[in-house]
Amino acid sequence: MKYGRNEQCFCGSGKKYKHCHLGREQEPRVNPWDISAAVRKEFSVKLCSAPDVMHEKCSGKIIAAHTVQRSGSLSEIARDGHVLTFVPSFENLTKHKGLLHPELVGIRKASTFSGFCSRHDDELFAPVEKEVFGGSQQQCFLLAYRAYAREIYTKRAAAETAKLQKDLDRGRSLDTQMSMQMFNFTQGLGLDAALRDIEHHKPRFEVPLLSDDYSVVRSYIIDLEGPPPVMCSGTYPPERDFEGKRHQDLVDITATPHLLSVTSFYGGENGHVVFTWLPEDDPVCLPVIQTLEKISDEDLSSRIVCFLFEHFENLHISPNWWESLEKATQNALIQRMMGDMPTMFGAPRLRHAKCQIPSWNVINRYRVGC
Ligand SMILES: [Zn+2]
Ligand SMILES: [Zn+2]
Repeated sequence: MKYGRNEQCFCGSGKKYKHCHLGREQEPRVNPWDISAAVRKEFSVKLCSAPDVMHEKCSGKIIAAHTVQRSGSLSEIARDGHVLTFVPSFENLTKHKGLLHPELVGIRKASTFSGFCSRHDDELFAPVEKEVFGGSQQQCFLLAYRAYAREIYTKRAAAETAKLQKDLDRGRSLDTQMSMQMFNFTQGLGLDAALRDIEHHKPRFEVPLLSDDYSVVRSYIIDLEGPPPVMCSGTYPPERDFEGKRHQDLVDITATPHLLSVTSFYGGENGHVVFTWLPEDDPVCLPVIQTLEKISDEDLSSRIVCFLFEHFENLHISPNWWESLEKATQNALIQRMMGDMPTMFGAPRLRHAKCQIPSWNVINRYRVGC
């Protein structure tokens, strides 16, 4: 393939080809491991995610904040101080031929992000860290707030690392350069939209916190006997409800998606799975919750575990529980997790393979604030 020297370059830089990508085939290739190191660096940048008006009181010491609520939560499912988690890195994908496998991680390292200063981590989250979880709107909100702070942190790091990928086409053929830049361009559009959505959602999430009024917060709470074997804290834009009906189109990046936060954790006396959202998200979140309410207690474990694997990557899994599952179920869950990843390794897809998970003892299921 040839490209005109005076044409605008295909990479979208706005420069002429001769001043941009001409000669790139001969440049030294970038080592993917260098990129991995740069990615790790971006994902450990230290900042405080408290609202801007609180920043003058920051302690100046950014700590590794826990995302799964309550510092003691993970120890409830750990074995010898370790839980299983997925580490999506280039190295791990290569090792397992494009499939992720859960790996043992010490609970001190698991589930942390450098996203709050020590004072705000301690003060803002005291009602969930230091009190038994009782389902108050404030506690539910704080779970969601922490999950969303991590989401913002991750999206910003992803946007920074996407810039690094622009150099990965050095030393490649012109065809490869073009397809890599096309991939970067599409991914960049998604990330730009994600950053724009953060500008929309972040102030919304700060209103209850800054006004100390949590009366608008809506939640659906599932209380379990014992800790849930999969712990997670995340915020995502639901596309479909639990019966598969679509309520928003995520392909349309011009629309700002509605968000739902999910936290599964041990609250001091019982296990809990908590879904939390704000009133503007009712149009999408209410149908999701209504269809979740229809699922029987007996089927709830299978449906929730599949749901968590499908939507969140920062899962923390009880090693004993994972090893008790049949191999086919483990594989089905891993496939669900891999569902949205690029298929550069051509891993087989079994997204809808059935997973049978032993039933949980459900104590209570109820709505708060709606
Ligand atoms: Zn170019
Ligand atoms: Zn702070």
